[in-house]
Amino acid sequence: MENQTTHQLPPHVFVLFGATGDLARRKLFPALYQLHRKGSLADGISIVGTARSEYTHEAFRDEVHKALKEFVKEDIEDAVWQSFAKRIHYVQGNVDRLEDFERLRDFVLELEQKADHGGNRMFYLSMAPRFFGETALYLKQSGLADTKGWRRLIIEKPFGHDYASAAELNDQLATAFAEEEIYRIDHYLGKEMVQNIEVIRFANSMFEPLWDNRSIASVQITSSETVGVEDRASYYETSGALRDMIQNHMLQMVMMTAMEPPSRLRTEAIRDEKVKVLRSLRRYSVDEVKNYVVRGQYTAGQMNGKAVPGYLEEPNVAPNSQTDTFVAAKLFIDNFRWAGVPFYIRTGKRMPVKSTEIVVQFRNMPKHLYFNQAGNLGPNLLVIRINPVEGMYMQLNVKRPGTDNVVVPIAMEFSQSADKSPEAYERLLHDAMIGDSTFFTRWDEVSLAWKFVDPIAEAFRTGAAPLHTYAAGEWGPQAAHDLVKENPGLWWPVYGDQTPSVETVVSRERANAVEVKY
Ligand code: NAP
Repeated sequence: MENQTTHQLPPHVFVLFGATGDLARRKLFPALYQLHRKGSLADGISIVGTARSEYTHEAFRDEVHKALKEFVKEDIEDAVWQSFAKRIHYVQGNVDRLEDFERLRDFVLELEQKADHGGNRMFYLSMAPRFFGETALYLKQSGLADTKGWRRLIIEKPFGHDYASAAELNDQLATAFAEEEIYRIDHYLGKEMVQNIEVIRFANSMFEPLWDNRSIASVQITSSETVGVEDRASYYETSGALRDMIQNHMLQMVMMTAMEPPSRLRTEAIRDEKVKVLRSLRRYSVDEVKNYVVRGQYTAGQMNGKAVPGYLEEPNVAPNSQTDTFVAAKLFIDNFRWAGVPFYIRTGKRMPVKSTEIVVQFRNMPKHLYFNQAGNLGPNLLVIRINPVEGMYMQLNVKRPGTDNVVVPIAMEFSQSADKSPEAYERLLHDAMIGDSTFFTRWDEVSLAWKFVDPIAEAFRTGAAPLHTYAAGEWGPQAAHDLVKENPGLWWPVYGDQTPSVETVVSRERANAVEVKY
């Protein structure tokens, strides 16, 4: 909750497990480099990468340099790189072996003798989740987690596979780290506009009085991807869209949209309010799931005029796979503020547009003076654009100039270049380094999210909720459109990196948009 540019981050040794992996190369080293380039990293911050591969310090630095050249948007300035490289070290080790943790501990102690790191240690687990619990135990047994300063554990997703496995993992972590020392990553919470939801809601007097079931008809949250499963089938076959996106990112956006104002802008006050949303989230039994949740899988289709294969034809996918590549759901938050307002969420692969947007649709006027007039009268929308464009717009109705009563929708728009915003991982690393866990997930959030998701996963597993198909390049199966048929009648279009053309939106969907019944 602090300004990222105003102060230096506290000294510590940053130990990165899985330092040779994809996430480290694409996101974590670029994020650390940006923090260094901006002068946020204090002298006493050293980075120690570890993994099984053999590297000297020098050879590992070369690998990091290559990764930065590939994944950092700007050119890497040599002087900046040289000073960043001095922070980087590498210790080979296997997380299955206690003796490798002891070697790592000795190296960290050596570094701490050479420079003042304040006795602080950060451990980032960027490796397969099956290693998380064991690594935490070895951190404790090897003495690496024993330090006179602070110690923190950042842990990647997924946090468990269901409630039972998440609880087991949490118990393992709890033997070595206290809850306030554990930083569970949900990188959506590091996104500029996700963090901005709170500000838009709680810093603008025009929204909060309208932010409830008296004024809001529905909320739609879409997070769509154009890519297919790519080379991630071995992971995706066990997760599907439900575990990959709904349990974490989509529910986080629901929480941010629906939470009550916190009593203070303090981490636990904010997280308390988020958790209350999950407590009020209506849970579906296995038998009810089919009425509220649609699962889909893409078949062969066209993306930008190019033929692409179906999910079942992708490498390493089982020929009879039932994995969901699309999930849409109608949620209800049964509390005073939201009773009766549907929250629709949908996420999928091979959608026509890559986009993450939240559409808040306000109720129609009690009487439409302008109903049946020429024009395109539509409901007021507040659209929060999270990715790839960062911004928001409000859709309002105005009179078309020069006409008597021809009503047209216009968009009041604000957008900012996502290029100027720090990447989510940069922001989250920064927050963890200052000990701010606001935008990390607390155990009760994770556990309640799994308790909501588990019966849905069970309905998927047993076939109690049918698997629908959709052609690549479509907005999911027909059943997902049927889900919104009564209210509001359509999924509002999302625009990806395009500018919303409001007149087009409403005229395209005119029948539905105008004749909504509540
Ligand atoms: P990855 O490319 O498979 O990297 C795994 C890392 O773990 C490698 O550095 C590997 O290096 C190391 N490793 C494997 N077995 C080890 C062992 N026994 N002892 C020590 N090190 C070992 O995985 P990733 O894609 O970077 O993902 C890392 C984590 O981030 C996962 O939890 C994933 O779910 C999460 N995540 C990744 C992405 C992404 O875009 N990649 C996005 C969101 C979340 P060696 O082979 O050299 O040991």
